[in-house]
Amino acid sequence: TLQDRLHEVFKNLRGKSRLTEADIDATAREIRLALLEADVNLGVVKEFIANLKSRALGADVHKALNPSQQIIKIVDEELVAILGGEARPLRFAKRPPTVIMLAGLQGSGKTTLAGKLGLWLKGQGHSPLLVAADLQRPNAVNQLQVVGERAGVHVYAPEPGNGVGDPVQVARQSILHAMSKLYDVVVVDTAGRLGIDSELMQQAADIRAAVNPTEVLFVVDAMIGQDAVNTASAFDDGVGFDGVVLTKLDGDARGGAALSIAKVIGKPIMFASNGEGLKDFDAFHPDRMASRILGMGDVLTLIEQAEKTFDAEQTAKAAEKLLGGRGEFGLDDFLQQMQAVRRMGPLSKILGMMPGMGQMKDQINNIDEREIDRLEAIIKSMTPAERANPKILDGSRRTRIAKGSGTTVTDVNSLVNRFFDARKMMQSLGGQMGGPGMPGMPG
Ligand code: GDP
Ligand code: MG
Repeated sequence: TLQDRLHEVFKNLRGKSRLTEADIDATAREIRLALLEADVNLGVVKEFIANLKSRALGADVHKALNPSQQIIKIVDEELVAILGGEARPLRFAKRPPTVIMLAGLQGSGKTTLAGKLGLWLKGQGHSPLLVAADLQRPNAVNQLQVVGERAGVHVYAPEPGNGVGDPVQVARQSILHAMSKLYDVVVVDTAGRLGIDSELMQQAADIRAAVNPTEVLFVVDAMIGQDAVNTASAFDDGVGFDGVVLTKLDGDARGGAALSIAKVIGKPIMFASNGEGLKDFDAFHPDRMASRILGMGDVLTLIEQAEKTFDAEQTAKAAEKLLGGRGEFGLDDFLQQMQAVRRMGPLSKILGMMPGMGQMKDQINNIDEREIDRLEAIIKSMTPAERANPKILDGSRRTRIAKGSGTTVTDVNSLVNRFFDARKMMQSLGGQMGGPGMPGMPG
């Protein structure tokens, strides 16, 4: 399986401390084979590999990760991208009823899906109505009624014995019925054929025009392989749809083709079915699916933690620098810290992690780039003795410094006052936090 092959690839990377270009090439080749073997669309594979290589070479990953983790992370992210990126939730109409129309080949799982959706919607507090607009097969209406009963959801169907009804008419009437009976979601089951044919497309397009669905869902059997993409594209041209539902993901088919639909057709996979039971169904989450394909949920969690810990360590180091040197904290330290702050970016994030830092946060955030330059000029115009012990800065020293740095005495005063404020805060913080080895912070 794709999982096994990927595992093999990652195993080969383990223990390496650096990735060479040759490593990346070999890895990419293996992953390419694995994806093709899983039946993933060729165009999708090509793009995947190109992205993987350029990102791995560019080391576009977190510094905290080892080479194998880096590749896993990139593969995971690229898989998520193929699968459509963010999960796309079902849209509901502003004015009910929300109309969901199901389209797809015969046997793709539409009728079963109607029941699953019905149960799922009910679970979310909706009152759904299933509509039997498949009047093609003699048994189709009955099948939906059975499914509806199992799900405990009402089914709208033409009266039996009325001869062959008109599915477009049934669909249209079902909407009026839903409005009058206050159903808020209508799920329209439609007919399918074994292959794509123009009559079927026309009927589906007519139903679509009649009920103006909030969502048209294209239902596709993941086991049909590369045909999944072709069928999807034919339905998109003939009927048009908003999202994809993958069914039969429980089958042992490779499924890679169906998973390529989102990328190739540019429509999100919104739901997935993995069994005949009504509960074998859920909203589709690209990230969860990707980690399932990788079969590395725990590794991915580790990677995330490694990144977080690394960030926390960096933060702690910076904070330690900021708070350290209590007692002998002079203007040189002050300057150094301001420069460190500038390098770190917005300090508010770091300070936000510590208790009781609101006041200081505001103060530091009020320092802008040019101010740091001016600060630097002023401090550089002082003698080492003045920097170490700013208490000796009397009026004449301040005037001299202002002249030397091209600023005003007011600027110098303001800097000195700020320094004393900061030092006071450092000292009280140092006491509050029990010294530089701050509790609750790693490192
Ligand atoms: P329709 O022709 O599109 O309405 O498809 P049906 O809903 O009648 O389903 C066709 C067959 O596929 C039925 O035997 C279903 O039980 C089965 N089926 C539907 N969804 C799934 C699924 O997710 N997994 C499996 N294993 N079988 C499914
Ligand atoms: Mg059916």
